[in-house]
Amino acid sequence: MMTPELLRTMPKVQLHCHLEGTLRAATFIDLARTHGVALTYRPHDAGPFPVDGPLADTAHPYAFKDFEGFLLTFAAVSRSLAEPADYQLLASQYVEDAIAQNVMYAEIFVSPSVWRFFNKNIDMRACMSAIRQACEARKSDGIETAFIVDLTRNFGVESAMQTARLAVEMQDLGVIGVGLGGDEAHYPAELFESCFDFARANGLHCVAHAGESAGAASVRAAVEMLRAERIGHGIRALEDPAVVRLLVQKKIPLEVCPTSNFLTGVAIGEAPHPLVDLDAAGCIVTIDADDPAIFRTTLTDELAYAAEVAGDDAPLRFTRNAIDAAFASPQTKTHLRERLASFSPEA
Ligand SMILES: [Zn+2]
Repeated sequence: MMTPELLRTMPKVQLHCHLEGTLRAATFIDLARTHGVALTYRPHDAGPFPVDGPLADTAHPYAFKDFEGFLLTFAAVSRSLAEPADYQLLASQYVEDAIAQNVMYAEIFVSPSVWRFFNKNIDMRACMSAIRQACEARKSDGIETAFIVDLTRNFGVESAMQTARLAVEMQDLGVIGVGLGGDEAHYPAELFESCFDFARANGLHCVAHAGESAGAASVRAAVEMLRAERIGHGIRALEDPAVVRLLVQKKIPLEVCPTSNFLTGVAIGEAPHPLVDLDAAGCIVTIDADDPAIFRTTLTDELAYAAEVAGDDAPLRFTRNAIDAAFASPQTKTHLRERLASFSPEA
């Protein structure tokens, strides 16, 4: 059995982690103070609020109570990231926390359309460049990073196309793909088909969140219309056995984030997480932490949970799946497999 310390040191791969969601609580408070924005975002009050105002809980800035609370927290975090230097800090702390858990390879989501929504004049390319530099600076510590630009459903199709163009232009900064997070229930996959076609035609990989806040039909649409190569979450595929079969047949990996699903209410608290049934059905399960800082979890914790519900071999098995599912070169994958193989939990 793997002890918590062995799990922490086990070589890891991240395929579903939003960079903005890794912002440490203490850094969030510092940045909010610097920029004079509140720790709690209220959509109808656009003006700046004192960080120490009545709504601010500086001891627990990430103590939201429900899904809406999470969204407002994510909004407040996004508003506090106002300039390239903030993104440099965010990325350098992310990579430090990743190295501490022996993450050897990560494909990280970034959401430039969200950056721009909260800070109108932000230079997105300069921010991406700052992120890239911060990550590359730690490459010699054994971590390789790449980026997936989220097109963000709820900003609509025009914004998504603009963001897809930006993603194509930022391939020189480590961008390798586009993703589709945001309001899945109200902005279905079919709206974004042309954006995904454009991204794919310009050499980018395509992934999509689906089967999180909408059901199995949304997963099918992400696979068939967007031709998503991996599905973020995908847990509600279980609502339709035909969709589970589709994922198995097409070998579409799922990026499963248990704590995120429990905290946003997509998965019910007491039952084992649906990853158990997806795994048993033959789906390719990978594990990540989604927005680890905001969800007060880590990839190590998520893998510990996976071991608890899916067996002691789950952390290694799901990490092998993640290596297979990654968009890394064959040489990099061979190297990652060797590093994982040289880790011996029995030692
Ligand atoms: Zn996500």
